[in-house]
Amino acid sequence: MKKLSDHGYYSTIMQEDDDYEIGRIMRNALIAYALCGGRWSEYSERYIAGNWSIEMGRLAGGTLYCNPVDYKANQYQREQFLKPVAVDGKIAASAMTEFNAGSDIFSMENRLIEEDDEVVIKGKKVFITNGMIANYIIVYGRLNNGQLGAVIIDTKNQHLNNFRAARVYTYGMRDAFVSRLIFDRVKVPKANLLQGNGLDIMFHQLTEERLIISAEALGDTMKKLLFSHTWAINREQFDRRLHKYQVIRFPISENIRQLNLLIAALIQYARELDDRPELGASKVMAANTMGLKIQTTELAFESSIHCFRTLGGRGFIRQYSNQIGLLDPYCMIHGGGSNYVLEDSESRRLFKTKPSNKKQDAIPRIDLFFE
Ligand SMILES: Cc1cc2nc3c(=O)[nH]c(=O)nc-3n(C[C@H](O)[C@H](O)[C@H](O)COP(=O)(O)OP(=O)(O)OC[C@H]3O[C@@H](n4cnc5c(N)ncnc54)[C@H](O)[C@@H]3O)c2cc1C
Repeated sequence: MKKLSDHGYYSTIMQEDDDYEIGRIMRNALIAYALCGGRWSEYSERYIAGNWSIEMGRLAGGTLYCNPVDYKANQYQREQFLKPVAVDGKIAASAMTEFNAGSDIFSMENRLIEEDDEVVIKGKKVFITNGMIANYIIVYGRLNNGQLGAVIIDTKNQHLNNFRAARVYTYGMRDAFVSRLIFDRVKVPKANLLQGNGLDIMFHQLTEERLIISAEALGDTMKKLLFSHTWAINREQFDRRLHKYQVIRFPISENIRQLNLLIAALIQYARELDDRPELGASKVMAANTMGLKIQTTELAFESSIHCFRTLGGRGFIRQYSNQIGLLDPYCMIHGGGSNYVLEDSESRRLFKTKPSNKKQDAIPRIDLFFE
């Protein structure tokens, strides 16, 4: 992260926009796309695969932590907790999910007990990217009045009293240091508490997060297609290269078609958000990026299946499957909000129209077609 940060590739918050020809959100999306997609090395003259887990770490610190802190932090909090991450490249995490509060984030039980000039954190979190390596964590929980709030902890290089972090070993996203956290009455100064409603703070970065996950998924798709495509062109069976067989070629070209379409949508949304920052709070834009996240992660998922298929037995050897990150997209069907929950809320939004009394506004009835 430090290396990324030194080159301006970690958080896009607190950077001088004049230094770049493109907007902040577009930059964030392109970094995500490149880190997942990989690059051509002039030095070794070969393709260096991207790594979605590393990008997940960048997203967790650079966006999921930095954006809400940037939204609500006062001057003291900006200096103490935002600058070290956004400018100096310290590692950060965002702790929302709990054992009983996954998709239903509002049922969070972690307590933020306000006592004199301290906040006492008591509870557990799970599935926290970067959790066990983070220098700073934004922790969400319930305040004395029952409302959700957000507090920042400095983990003192993971030596903070009464705080423990342990790794959750996942099959995909192996380098993302997904962790479980225990706060056993951790005490932090009240000055670390962000002002405002925790739910508002949490949801503030959602549209950008969805867009960046879409960029990650498209980069990952590109990587998987490159592997399938290269293998299909080079591998020979029954005296023919694999790409001569339509059953191998068709799914790959179909995925490439989808990839091109979705990249165009990504660029369009990123441009719009950069041009009109107020769209960050728009429900329509939130729904659009939600739809894009669903489509792109499903495409990454599908291109992974075709990669497994095209590579034959080799796709299942750890040496290949780990490097290619074949299982990463399976995690991202849930990471950043589960696709099934998002799909359900998207379809509820579309079916919400109330029937009107006015004849000209009436919703077309299906039985008209049978009259
Ligand atoms: C790799 C990875 C990294 C993560 N990083 C972080 C992080 O940094 N910080 C953080 O706070 N969290 C993180 N998470 C947690 C992630 O946000 C949750 O996994 C996600 O919110 C889903 O919660 P859950 O796993 O408890 O599943 P559940 O909520 O228990 O859902 C189980 C299944 O039921 C479905 N379901 C649930 N409710 C509905 C509904 N209303 N309609 C339709 N279907 C429904 C879900 O889609 C899912 O398929 C991470 C997860 C992963 C996999």
